[in-house]
Amino acid sequence: MSMTITNSVFILASLLLLFPRVEAWGKIGHQIVANIAYNRLDQDKREKIDIILNFTDFETQGFDNQLAAVADWADTVRYVSEYHWTGILHYINLADNKIKNGCPCQNNNEYSHPTKFKFHSEPHCHNQTDNTSCNFVYERDCVDGKCVAGAIHDLSMMVHNTSNFKDQLTSNDEKEWSHEFLKTRHTNEIKKSSNIQDNYKNLTNKQRLMFIIHFMGDIHQPLHCSRKTDEGGNSIKVVFSKSDQIEDDTSNFKGMITPRGLRGSEQIGNAWNLHSVWDDGIIEKSIKIYHNDSQILFQNHVENLLTVETNIEQWSKCSNSLDEECPKKWAQESVKDALKWAYNNDNREVVSGDVLSEEYFETRLKVVERRLAVAGLRLASSLNVIFG
Ligand SMILES: [Zn+2]
Repeated sequence: MSMTITNSVFILASLLLLFPRVEAWGKIGHQIVANIAYNRLDQDKREKIDIILNFTDFETQGFDNQLAAVADWADTVRYVSEYHWTGILHYINLADNKIKNGCPCQNNNEYSHPTKFKFHSEPHCHNQTDNTSCNFVYERDCVDGKCVAGAIHDLSMMVHNTSNFKDQLTSNDEKEWSHEFLKTRHTNEIKKSSNIQDNYKNLTNKQRLMFIIHFMGDIHQPLHCSRKTDEGGNSIKVVFSKSDQIEDDTSNFKGMITPRGLRGSEQIGNAWNLHSVWDDGIIEKSIKIYHNDSQILFQNHVENLLTVETNIEQWSKCSNSLDEECPKKWAQESVKDALKWAYNNDNREVVSGDVLSEEYFETRLKVVERRLAVAGLRLASSLNVIFG
């Protein structure tokens, strides 16, 4: 085990104790995306990736493959000072604060219950024809590439260009080169520059790859590409039950803390913030009540969605992170899902204090499953191209 790996494992273990709940698809979501991707990698690409990641201890740590073992790494190191600059790369803040009338939730007529409307005083969701400014605008929402869409593309290009160089070497040299390369790099050598490209250059290829694996999950979580004003749902406190019994208990809200400046999240009892419902809550509830508490069974169910031919065709259309248009498209899909599904509660704006119904869970679970599946598919396609 190299020093770099030892350090990484140590940092990861320490941080899991310090920060019991971190943001982004929770650990389960990231692992599922990675596992689905690993199953779809070309054999020769898989071997190259395994050499670069060089995480030989993955099985004893309970992972099926190296991709899954490192999928959560980016969420743990972001709290280490050397990596603070990476925090902004996990999401997109849609600048709804600069848009007249903001970016309200969108109607979803498939699941509307008009009879319930009269009981609500909050604004109803709007029709799809509303404000086009509420789409993801790269120049406005990802200045200098500092967002998850920019990071995925820029890091993919760097790994791709370096892996071309590596192809010039024999396989033995390649292993040696990779090992030496990793040995000479330490996390505390990373410069903190305002120029994100400089910072990328100071990462190892292994680190770049670990960020790509993680960010491909993040960009497909709708609330990671959503409104700035509520920090992607982090400031909206809701009641959500992981059992099929909803208790309308808001007393826990006062104990909830979202660390200032971070998009971190906490959950106490049935009191959640909306962001973590989408990171963890919906996934955990589904595993518990539909899949016999088995993450594997849930993952198999999600992966099966990719066997439906129409899905593969539709989702594969733009699945190359080297093409800068693709991450933009994935982010835009998330923006739409956030406005249509995450912020919509019975066709009105979800607001703090709302109880998320069983219907909210059932219908949004379909969205979560689809986003996990497509993220896995696109991660595999992108890695196959990056190392092609
Ligand atoms: Zn993340």
